[in-house]
Amino acid sequence: MALHHGGTRRDESDERRRLALNPFYGQANPVGGMTTAPPKHRLPDSPLPPTTAYQLVHDELMLDGNARLNLATFVTTWMEPQAGVLMGECRDKNMIDKDEYPRTAELERRCVAMLADLWHAPDPATAVGCSTTGSSEACMLAGMALKRRWAQRAATRKEGGRYPGTARPNLVMGVNVQVCWEKFCNFWEVEMRQVPMEGDRFHLDPEAAAALCDENTIGVVTVLGSTFDGSYEPIGEVCAALDALQERTGLDVPVHVDGASGAMVAPFVDEDLVWDFRLPRVSSINTSGHKYGLVYPGVGWALWRSPAELPEELVFRVTYLGGDMPTFALNFSRPGAQVVAQYYTFLRLGREGYRAVQQTTREVARSLADRIEEIGDFRLLTRGDQLPVFAFTTAPDVTAFDVFDVSRRLRERGWLVPAYTFPENRTDLSVLRVVCRNGFSADLGALLMEDLERILPELRSQPHPLGHDEAMATAFHH
Ligand SMILES: *Cc1c(COP(=O)(O)O)cnc(C)c1O
Repeated sequence: MALHHGGTRRDESDERRRLALNPFYGQANPVGGMTTAPPKHRLPDSPLPPTTAYQLVHDELMLDGNARLNLATFVTTWMEPQAGVLMGECRDKNMIDKDEYPRTAELERRCVAMLADLWHAPDPATAVGCSTTGSSEACMLAGMALKRRWAQRAATRKEGGRYPGTARPNLVMGVNVQVCWEKFCNFWEVEMRQVPMEGDRFHLDPEAAAALCDENTIGVVTVLGSTFDGSYEPIGEVCAALDALQERTGLDVPVHVDGASGAMVAPFVDEDLVWDFRLPRVSSINTSGHKYGLVYPGVGWALWRSPAELPEELVFRVTYLGGDMPTFALNFSRPGAQVVAQYYTFLRLGREGYRAVQQTTREVARSLADRIEEIGDFRLLTRGDQLPVFAFTTAPDVTAFDVFDVSRRLRERGWLVPAYTFPENRTDLSVLRVVCRNGFSADLGALLMEDLERILPELRSQPHPLGHDEAMATAFHH
């Protein structure tokens, strides 16, 4: 949520407000009979008829973008009408009120069990997990569990020493992590230790990660897949490097997998890839139900391998049918609709359905990447064969335009394709990224190609790149 300051009142003159109201909505409205639009930055003095209020809000929202043309976001922009109906039926249910809504609570429990099974928890019946508002909340919870376990280890080591003493906890990760990990480290006062990019490696390096670990390392975060380029981090190799570290030094560093996108892709289309609880060092995993889980925002999931990975004192109890139910969350009240929609989607698609959807999305991404490569003006960094996401930059011999020009020109045609600069040590590299989601069809892909090919002749004849606009770069975080 953006942090807002009070708005300007410049446009609040009586004359402006009179003109702002369509006579059809106001004066000609037999119930309302208003002559001016309500103020925008303070509460109106009196109520409006619902039809007028609806029209005013509806009209303003017409200027929001067309979500289907947004190739920046990972978040679901299409669900079946049946899912919409179910969500409407559940929008008044409060997820925290387990006593009042025991069936919603049960559906949440089943979703956790299904994910524990999907991610190969050693004993899915004892794996613990919860729904969240998204991966960011799930990452906060997973990070808190890592930090608390470190504190417990440190306290035992120091035999009665005061926690936290003078030691400062740290968390190891690639520089490519999503911004939620920066938030975690800032909010929970954990030192962020980042492995930079190097050459053509745009994510975490196993040896470099192990080298950053010490006795105050609460864990290593690995990402399946990176928001920068859609690549999967080598989670098995990171675990192996940490196994070797343990053999050498005795340090036992747990791994968290940030599977915001990939944890709902890899299980269906990369079944041979071992990235999940099959690796004994993986202690927790998160995913965004609202990304490749195929549910509208906001729902996420956090799971721990077993109760031992989630310190008991972090768990709170709420009343549930006369007994109590353990909960772990940052929020208290929150809608039940998204959890119900997740359960609906699990039931509706099953493994085969998810496989078909993710496979198709990946094929659209791969063929789009191939066709962009064929143009000759671009060099692919990734090909859409891990996450259905690829990043590309301009070919070395292209000097007339840069990725920011391409992004800007595509935006003129309605497409949102973000351009951004990579972090250390590749700040020399700027890329465009395309995120394919369910609903971005091969037909839409063909239209994007047409538009790209239409703008290229003009771009090639520019005297030089027209420079970039930092505001555009922010879109890639979604
Ligand atoms: C999207 C994303 C997040 C944040 O997830 P939200 O569900 O948007 O809160 C965290 N990590 C990764 C790798 C992501 O792709």
